[in-house]
Amino acid sequence: MSNRAKRCSWCGELASVKLPYARLSLCSNHFLEYIERRVKNTIKRYKLIRPGDRVVLSLSGGKDSLALLHILNSLGDDFELCALGVDLGIKKDEYSARSIEVSERYCRELGVEFLKVDLEKDYGFTIDDVFSSRRIRRPVCSSCGVVKRYVTNRAAVELGADSLATGHNLDDESTVLLSNYLNADIDLLVRSGPVLPSRGERMVSRIKPLYETSEWETSMYVYYRGIQPVEQKCPYALDTPISRMKEIVNLLEERRTGSKIALVRGFAKKIKPILAEHHSALGEIGQCEECGYPTSTSVCSFCRLRKRVLNSK
Ligand code: SF4
Ligand code: ZN
Ligand code: ZN
Repeated sequence: MSNRAKRCSWCGELASVKLPYARLSLCSNHFLEYIERRVKNTIKRYKLIRPGDRVVLSLSGGKDSLALLHILNSLGDDFELCALGVDLGIKKDEYSARSIEVSERYCRELGVEFLKVDLEKDYGFTIDDVFSSRRIRRPVCSSCGVVKRYVTNRAAVELGADSLATGHNLDDESTVLLSNYLNADIDLLVRSGPVLPSRGERMVSRIKPLYETSEWETSMYVYYRGIQPVEQKCPYALDTPISRMKEIVNLLEERRTGSKIALVRGFAKKIKPILAEHHSALGEIGQCEECGYPTSTSVCSFCRLRKRVLNSK
């Protein structure tokens, strides 16, 4: 995509963005409207939110979740929205402190209730502790993923939420999808898609309203809305195999416009229903012996991780 100046397809003013897959050039105002409509259509297409739902948005202070905060807030009063930030205790470059500060500021500006989970205060450890623990061998991002999934779900349950919205975008989803196809990882494939339904009382369904909105579009959205996401990059973010897979998906999109959308939409509409029917991955789920939250093992991965980190502190 490029920013080459043309005329807006909707109003004839000077265009700011060009969207080749939609054969549109749009001025900044119509681009913002287009993205908001697109997210609204995604919510409708996949039935992500019902009228009267209490939606908790997981907010990191990054461009995707901030864009989603503004878009969900613009969609009206049909559902209740509140935001949740997790202070992961990452001290370098004041990453966590800045993420919380930015998230809190935008919620205050929009009048959206903001709630915070403090990993250190509430659970006794931080992601910095995970990184320094000699007992944890897996990459820090993989442990961080376990932590974020657990604490956001638990907070959403305690808040009585109907769903937990995350800022995963089209690029994240098409990349993970292709990677799971290549690895023939049926378990992960069954757990992909725009909605991951609840599988019990203490599990809130997870929804991805940016499922069909690209990373470039959310960057442009925050830019034209004048939103400033947290500047710092997480110090643990590394060049991983998944970031290389992202380059491959971008190349695919370049060669065949619309590939990303075709991948995720085709999966959600045609492949996932068949997989879910024939695969038992979404079968019985038990309760963690320590915390009582859902797990397929006797003690959940969060409790196991927490114990190992606390024992090595
Ligand atoms: Fe956590 Fe890794 Fe993301 Fe940093 S980059 S917030 S460690 S998942
Ligand atoms: Zn216009
Ligand atoms: Zn547990």
